[in-house]
Amino acid sequence: MSLDNKVAIVTGAGRGIGEAISRKLAADGATVVCADVNVDDAGRVARDCGQGAWASPLDVAQAEACDRLISAVTDRHKRLDILVNNAGINRDAMLHKMTDEQWHQVIAVDLTGVFFMTRAASRVMRTAGSGRIINISSASWMGNIGQANYSAAKAGVLGLTRTAARELARSQVTVNAICPGFIDTAMTRGIPDQIRDQQVAKIPLGRPGQPADVAAVVAFLASDEAGYITAEVINVGGGYVI
Ligand code: NAP
Repeated sequence: MSLDNKVAIVTGAGRGIGEAISRKLAADGATVVCADVNVDDAGRVARDCGQGAWASPLDVAQAEACDRLISAVTDRHKRLDILVNNAGINRDAMLHKMTDEQWHQVIAVDLTGVFFMTRAASRVMRTAGSGRIINISSASWMGNIGQANYSAAKAGVLGLTRTAARELARSQVTVNAICPGFIDTAMTRGIPDQIRDQQVAKIPLGRPGQPADVAAVVAFLASDEAGYITAEVINVGGGYVI
């Protein structure tokens, strides 16, 4: 599978799963725009990717910033083939202790940010009559203690994915979601050891996932070969949700 001559945007590209996705798409031939609130990290990843990759500051929670990035990419490359909505945060707390701020922050980045980027990209992809949108949701969409905000946002991403898939199918734009399980990144390294061990014990394949495990599925969904797959939700969790 080759992504030669394709242009991709990856949000939250500065580390973790977004970094692995950027590296994989570039290795498969795409020119990757590494977008992140942390532009230093995104710049490092873009340099490592090579293949014409470049970095952009982006807060996905800001609609105008999302619109500006899509315009900058299409001005520069005259195309946008792949959007990976990966940026995400968690602000965990039990429901009865969760603050308004914790709720709003997570919804703004993990759900509204996906909407802002998808809306802006869909305008370009509809006109082009092709495109791939891949949303990184989470196994937590099904509900997880301490993650009311995160679970709600990630479940919302699945509804958004399926609706966008229906609306954009006539333009040959596919929209799919991936639900990672427990992946070894900064996001999960902050979890207390005891809870981490409990989570890992629930994984039938017996290990946490690596960012590259998610990146491989993104690369497939981004390829021409995946052109007849849309509105799907793919678990990448080592059997976590059996
Ligand atoms: P991570 O290591 O925390 O990396 C997330 C990246 O996104 C960071 O570079 C972060 O920048 C950036 N970011 C945060 N807010 C942003 C915003 N408003 N706009 C643009 N970029 C932003 O997380 P990860 O584990 O790689 O997770 C990536 C995605 O996978 C997330 O959507 C997450 O919910 C999902 N996921 C992860 C797991 C897991 O086990 N790790 C499981 C299921 C789903 P800063 O460095 O400045 O914060």
